[in-house]
Amino acid sequence: MSDIVPPEVRPKPVVPAKPPHVGAPSPSSPYPPQGLGAGTGVSAPLPPSAIPVMIGSHGISHAPSHTPSHIAVSHGVGVSSGGHGGSHAHGGSQGSSGGSTLLGYIGIDTIIEQMRKKTMKTGFDFNIMVVGHSGLGKSTLLNTLFKSQVSRRSAGWARDEKIPKTVEIKAVSHFIEEGGVKMKLTVVDTPGFGDQINNDNCWEPIGKYINEQYEKFLKEEVNITRKKRIPDTRVHCCLYFISPTGHSLRQLDIEFMKHLSHSVNIIPIIAKADTMTIEERQDFKQRLFSNWCAARAVDPVHCTVATVLEVLQFLLDSGRSHSTLRVYVAAISSLHNRVDGATVGRHRLVSLFLRGALRLRPPTAMRAPAWDLPLVLEALSSPPFEPLGQVKLKWLSMKAAFLLAITSAKRVGELHALSVSDTCLRWNSDGSGVTLWPNVAFLPKVLPRNHLNQPIQLARFDPPSEEGGYELLCPVRALRAYISATADIRQSEQLFVCHGGPNRGHVLTKQRLSHWVVDTITHAYRASGRPPPSGVRCHSTRSVSASWAALRGVPLGTICAAASWASPSTFSWFYRVNVATPHLMGVVLRPSSAVRKELEMGGIEYYPQKEFDEDMEDKSDNDKIRESMPLAVVGSDKEYQVNGKRVLGRKTAWGVVEVENPNHCEFAQLRDFLIRSHLQDLKEVTHNIHYETYRAKRLHGNGGLHPVSTNDTQESNL
Ligand code: GDP
Ligand code: MG
Repeated sequence: MSDIVPPEVRPKPVVPAKPPHVGAPSPSSPYPPQGLGAGTGVSAPLPPSAIPVMIGSHGISHAPSHTPSHIAVSHGVGVSSGGHGGSHAHGGSQGSSGGSTLLGYIGIDTIIEQMRKKTMKTGFDFNIMVVGHSGLGKSTLLNTLFKSQVSRRSAGWARDEKIPKTVEIKAVSHFIEEGGVKMKLTVVDTPGFGDQINNDNCWEPIGKYINEQYEKFLKEEVNITRKKRIPDTRVHCCLYFISPTGHSLRQLDIEFMKHLSHSVNIIPIIAKADTMTIEERQDFKQRLFSNWCAARAVDPVHCTVATVLEVLQFLLDSGRSHSTLRVYVAAISSLHNRVDGATVGRHRLVSLFLRGALRLRPPTAMRAPAWDLPLVLEALSSPPFEPLGQVKLKWLSMKAAFLLAITSAKRVGELHALSVSDTCLRWNSDGSGVTLWPNVAFLPKVLPRNHLNQPIQLARFDPPSEEGGYELLCPVRALRAYISATADIRQSEQLFVCHGGPNRGHVLTKQRLSHWVVDTITHAYRASGRPPPSGVRCHSTRSVSASWAALRGVPLGTICAAASWASPSTFSWFYRVNVATPHLMGVVLRPSSAVRKELEMGGIEYYPQKEFDEDMEDKSDNDKIRESMPLAVVGSDKEYQVNGKRVLGRKTAWGVVEVENPNHCEFAQLRDFLIRSHLQDLKEVTHNIHYETYRAKRLHGNGGLHPVSTNDTQESNL
């Protein structure tokens, strides 16, 4: 791509941008942006309408109501191109050829501070587009990201909303300020995308919009009298929302990303990574009751208890369980007027009905896990399980078996069939993970046909070093250590072999393997001074790990495939247990790997693209991001009290999913990446790559500037 990089190439932003030796950065803004989108370091006064309105000293403020002119595509705060800062720096360094030491202080390093001041004065633009069908949480996520109502919540979820016939494109600008840095944020929403029965070519209007912004910019650039600062309406980032419930990517998702990944920075995310919230279920149930009443011309607020009982009887007849009926009763109660001074839920007849329902439909599934996963993981991170290189083979064997069981969600029979032979075990050449195939000859006969020979893919778990200790839970690391420790004693190719006694090195029985897992749990409890739970079975690792995966937004179909379950209902009825305790296990189980595989297999590119990495540091930072794409996120504007703190979250049947807790979802990772580390890069790639591709094509290929055609989007995918 080097041939299309324009002359104005700016230095790569490094995050956090702390100026060395030039005073501390503003405490309220640890990550001030460096430079500006279309040029670095030239100030220009803000137009009067662009004066930000501060609410609080450090908080982000937005002022849509103060700036009515911005509720439209009104891109006022552009930045000029140029590079004063750069030329100063250049002049300063000329005298010291080959990096020789300066004899006295010149002050070159103050350039960073000078640039910072200019940026503070000027502010910068950031244009973000959200794409995905209605109700996927686009508006909510944007509001959560910018801690502000930057996106008006659509009523898209409501049944009665009129779905637009085509994709509409709406841009709304806001001025937000933090730590003295001003940002003009333009949110481009695309309501109607993917909402039709036939969604063919749904991406076209969006591509057209993106190109129109390039065209506008180009026209301004080639004007004889150029504006000092060209208004920048180009889309710097497109958040593409993938549905959390689909078993895989939809054709529409693939089409969109394939067509537009070369025109705009696409960041795919899995939206609404939690399950349905309690509130939504109530909402749904209320709606059912209201519809029932409407169909019979009965008033849902004032109807008799008999009508309520009739609805409950209908629900019972249609197979609803006692606990489900209770949720319906709660939902109806919150809607219905009181009867004899009490809610309908407390009415004697309703209580009697529920008691009868309980007798008729006793609960069948165990809902709470028999043991505490975080507690066991804690134990695995300390002696006698660590340091791994020095521990006895017994502890190493137990740890490897437990981590494999919990991260693969496989039956003990399948784990038992794993083998170290070359045909059954392959390490990724880059050390990123390992794939294990069971030896078919050892597999139990009861396994469903379609699950025979399904591999286990384990990725290396390599969290940032500040999250100390979590790497000790990497299953790939444990497996590698186990295989190397058993190499000399091994008498069998089966992965797990006896670690002691007369059969040392010989194949282990399935029962012994189960014991290892159960013993690990028992040991962890004893080590923490708690009595071990009774009746724990190795099999329970399947339910615990799968429930974590579901909490993290892995589609049920993917979980079922991984765990060899025939249908999602097997999982939800028998295995889904309460795993609300926040823990890193959610991170260990890579939720989005299935979708990422699909993206890879489909040859779909997304930001940050490998080919745009500028150096090794860039590559290693971006590799980490690419490995965790698409991020599974949860958005919310509601706060809940958790451990004495108020946190943004969503209440689910399993507890509160905390938006900013990295163990619950990847929102924090998305925010850090989008705003704190890559915001400037998004703008640079837009300018240097996407816009430049467009510009080169328009100027060279077209023999001058002619009106842009709708089909240019596709053609510009060079
Ligand atoms: P949009 O049409 O894509 O802009 O979606 P909205 O942001 O208007 O959200 C639609 C509905 O989804 C609202 O009821 C939100 O409360 C809900 N919602 C938004 N984000 C999430 C999420 O992360 N998890 C869950 N469970 N619901 C969400
Ligand atoms: Mg919306």
